[in-house]
Amino acid sequence: MSSAFENAVNVVRQAAKIADIDEDVVELLSRPQRIVRVAVPVYMDSGELKIFDGFRVQHNNWRGPYKGGIRFHQDVSEDEVKALATWMSIKCAVVDIPLGGGKGGVIVDPKGLSQAELERLSRAYIAAVAPVVGPQVDIPAPDVNTTAQIMDWMADEYAKVTGDWQPGVVTGKSIDKGGSQGRNNATAQGGVYVLQEYFKQKGESLSGKTMAIQGFGNAGSVFANLAHELGAKIVAVSDSKGGVYSASGFSVAALSEHKKETSSVAGFEGSSAISQEALLALDVDVLVPAALEGVITDANVENVKARVVLELANGPTTPEADVVLFEKNIGVIPDVLANAGGVTVSYFEWKQNLADESWSEGEVLSKLEPIMKDALSEVLSVAREKNINLRQAAYALALQRISAARPS
Ligand code: NAD
Repeated sequence: MSSAFENAVNVVRQAAKIADIDEDVVELLSRPQRIVRVAVPVYMDSGELKIFDGFRVQHNNWRGPYKGGIRFHQDVSEDEVKALATWMSIKCAVVDIPLGGGKGGVIVDPKGLSQAELERLSRAYIAAVAPVVGPQVDIPAPDVNTTAQIMDWMADEYAKVTGDWQPGVVTGKSIDKGGSQGRNNATAQGGVYVLQEYFKQKGESLSGKTMAIQGFGNAGSVFANLAHELGAKIVAVSDSKGGVYSASGFSVAALSEHKKETSSVAGFEGSSAISQEALLALDVDVLVPAALEGVITDANVENVKARVVLELANGPTTPEADVVLFEKNIGVIPDVLANAGGVTVSYFEWKQNLADESWSEGEVLSKLEPIMKDALSEVLSVAREKNINLRQAAYALALQRISAARPS
């Protein structure tokens, strides 16, 4: 099996052929511009010193400073961070924001840390990468297991290291520390805008569409809520503890309340239990993977019956499954477009920090909506013109933009 980074580079190579991208550019994009490995020393509450391994990968900055989250997870690897950094370069170019691609990570299970240890880890990581990040250089953000609180600690530590308070060094901060209105809902909201435009271009609307959502965390639950408000019928939802189904559709507010009380969607009143595999195979208008990587694979893709797959998660469809979905005429709105609302509002946060402004939520949404809808239209027209799937089209469009920005 090829690695995540090899997969990412393969998709880049295929799309580069379609878009007729210069071979030298493809070579340059087939490896990150810089890979930084750091030791992250942390004194545990017991007084013992532990040294964790951390990474910052800077994939490409031709369009602007590197941008990408920091992941705290026991399975983080250099290969995974390289793949994620590559996706960020593509993602920022698809929505045409002037940023490049980067990503960071620390090999650690944060669930095993106390709050004080987590703070020391966060501060030690940003201090270790401080020489290579900065508001005009590389701007980290939250990713798996990193939160607004962690970004606040990092901005604070960066100020201590550099002697200068620069909130634009990280995004995804709390509002009090220079975060943006609308950031929490941004990924899901961006997905809703993209889906609205997708159906509009088919002469349809989101209202009345049936949807199954895998994952009920930040991306999945907010998406369920926003889509439900627009008249979509959410018939199935799952999280790591189980799944629920209701043919008549859920009240998302009641489901969220149930999740808050019991920490899972499982057992929600008036629903029946559904397995993860059965959820992926439901005959719905829209299937929304919003949890993990690699869930639609060659082992289950034949069962998928949805008309459209909206990839709110990063990398939920394997390359083999992607081919089958295209043959089955199932539209896949790829992660680099579907979940790009998050980085777009991160870009807004950075702009507000640099200009010392703070925008209202309405202002943020009014800027986000045309960016997401225009990107979908552009990707659709490339796909139609070249008879390729939306992922290839998104990559082709992004590669043209990145290539055009190559410094001479
Ligand atoms: P989260 O941790 O808030 O939620 C993840 C959800 O997935 C939880 O409900 C969890 O219970 C569920 N889950 C875990 N294992 C599962 C399983 N085996 N089956 C079904 N559900 C399972 O994370 P999130 O921020 O919502 O991110 C979800 C995905 O979206 C990730 O791939 C992430 O990279 C991507 N994403 C998120 C953002 C964002 O702004 N939150 C931005 C871009 C991409």
